[in-house]
Amino acid sequence: MTNKVVVIGGGVAGNASALALQQRGLQAVVLERAEPGTLRVGEHLSPESRLLLSNLGLWDAFVADGHLACPGVRSSWGTPGIYEREYIFSPYGDGWNLDRCSFDNSLARAVEDADAEILYNTRVTSLIRTREGWSIEIDAEGRKMTLFASFLVDATGRASAISRKLGAKRIVYDRQQALIAWLSTQKANTDLDATLLIEAVEDGWWYATPLPNNRMVAAFMTDPPLHSSSPLPLGKLWTEKMVRTKHVQNRLGDYQLDDVIVRPANSYRMDRVVGDGWLSVGDAAMAFDPLSSMGINKALRSALAAANVAVRYIGGDSSALASYSADLCWDFEDYLAKRSTFYQQENRWPDQPFWRNRQQPGPVKRKITLQPQTMLRRSDFDHTNITQMNSVMTKSDYESIHGICETPLPAFQVVSQLKQRLTRPISDERAIHFVQIAFDHGLLKYAPI
Ligand SMILES: Cc1cc2nc3c(=O)[nH]c(=O)nc-3n(C[C@H](O)[C@H](O)[C@H](O)COP(=O)(O)OP(=O)(O)OC[C@H]3O[C@@H](n4cnc5c(N)ncnc54)[C@H](O)[C@@H]3O)c2cc1C
Repeated sequence: MTNKVVVIGGGVAGNASALALQQRGLQAVVLERAEPGTLRVGEHLSPESRLLLSNLGLWDAFVADGHLACPGVRSSWGTPGIYEREYIFSPYGDGWNLDRCSFDNSLARAVEDADAEILYNTRVTSLIRTREGWSIEIDAEGRKMTLFASFLVDATGRASAISRKLGAKRIVYDRQQALIAWLSTQKANTDLDATLLIEAVEDGWWYATPLPNNRMVAAFMTDPPLHSSSPLPLGKLWTEKMVRTKHVQNRLGDYQLDDVIVRPANSYRMDRVVGDGWLSVGDAAMAFDPLSSMGINKALRSALAAANVAVRYIGGDSSALASYSADLCWDFEDYLAKRSTFYQQENRWPDQPFWRNRQQPGPVKRKITLQPQTMLRRSDFDHTNITQMNSVMTKSDYESIHGICETPLPAFQVVSQLKQRLTRPISDERAIHFVQIAFDHGLLKYAPI
C-alpha cells in the first residue's frame, strides 16, 4: 500500500470510506475533530442497509451488536389515524433501530482492524495542493504534523469543511431543525412495539422509536424559531411540544426523559462535490430530511462509490470524478421529487408555514417520449466539444450511447447495452432518462425501420 488517501471526518461516511479504501488496497488515514465515542444522531436503518453493510464486510459484526430489529413504519400522516408499512415485503428483511454508540464503535474498530489509522482530536490547520497531491498540516492532540496524500475525502458531515475551503457553496432547501430527546425505562418490555412511529402535527412532525437497552428516541422536526418568546430549557420545550401529540405521547408511557439536544435537520446539497484530487461523501456532500431515514444509507453508499473513484483517480482515470458528481446529482433530484410527494400527502394544515413551505411541487422529471421499440441511431451532431451533457449525465455517458448507436437499435436495447457498458451501476429508470436526454439534445435520431 503506497498511495495515501486522507479522509477528514470520522462519522459513518468517513470511516466507511476509510474501510472501503483499505479493502481496495489504498492506505487511508482518518482525521476526526472530536473524541472517540462522541454522540451522533440517526438511529433507524431501512432494510436495504443490509446490502451496504455486507458489501463492507460489516454484516456479521452488525448482527452481533444486538441492534433492535424493526418490522416497519407506522405513520399518522395525512390522517389522524395510523397506517402501517411493513418491511415484511422487503427482500432484505427487517429494518433496524440502532444502539448508535456500538454501531459507531464497531465501524471504527473495523477501520483500525483493516490497518487504517484514525486520529481523534485532530484539526487540519493548512491544506495545500501540490504537484503530487496534497500537503496537509494538522494539529493532532497538540502535536503538529504534516501528511501527504494523493487524494482527499471530505467526510466532515454538515460542516462540509473541506469542500467549503476548496470553494464549494451550499444550496439550501429549507431551514428545518430537530429537537431530539432520548428516554429510558427501568421496565423491561416483553411486548415491545419496535416499529418506527411518525406523527405529523400542526407545526412539524415527530418520530419515535424504541432502541436497544430499554431506551427510546423521540424527536420533533420543525422550522425555526423553536420558541417565540422566552427561551424554555430544552427539556421543558420538548415536553410542551410532546404533550400536543397523540400517538407519540401514547408510545412514551413509562419512559423518563434523559437528554435533549437541538440539531439542524434541513435539506441541502453542495454545488460541487468533486474537484481535482478530492470529493465529498455523506452529509458533507448533501443532506436529506430525516423523514427519509436515508442519511446513514447515503453515507455508506457514497463511501463505497468514493473508494472506487479514488482507486480510478489514482490509477490515472480522472473521469471517475465526473461520474460520481453526476450520480450524486441524480440521487438528490430523486430525493427532492420523493420528498415533495411525501409532504404533499399531508393537507390538514395548509395555512401553517411549516406545511405551506413544503407543498411546492418537486423537480419535474424529464418526460419520456421514446417508446421501447422506437428505432434509434446516432446523429451527425459533433459531440467532441461537449464537456458535460447536464448535471446528471457526463460526457463519457453520452459517448457510451454514441458508441452503442452506431447502427440502428430499438430504444430498450440501447438502455440495456448502456447499463452493461457503464463502469458504474445505474438504475433502469436512470438509463432510460440518459437515452431520452441524448435524444432531446439531438445526439440521437429516429432510424428508419
Ligand atoms: C434529527 C436527525 C435524525 C436523523 N435520523 C436518521 C435516521 O434515523 N436514519 C438515518 O439513516 N439517518 C438519519 N439522520 C441522518 C444521519 O444522521 C446523517 O445523514 C449521517 O449521520 C451522516 O453521516 P456523516 O458521516 O456524513 O456525517 P457525521 O455523522 O456528521 O460525521 C461527520 C464527522 O466529521 C467530523 N468533523 C466535522 N468537521 C470536521 C473537521 N473540520 N475536521 C475533522 N473532523 C470534522 C465530526 O466530528 C463528525 O464526526 C438523521 C439526521 C438528523 C439531523
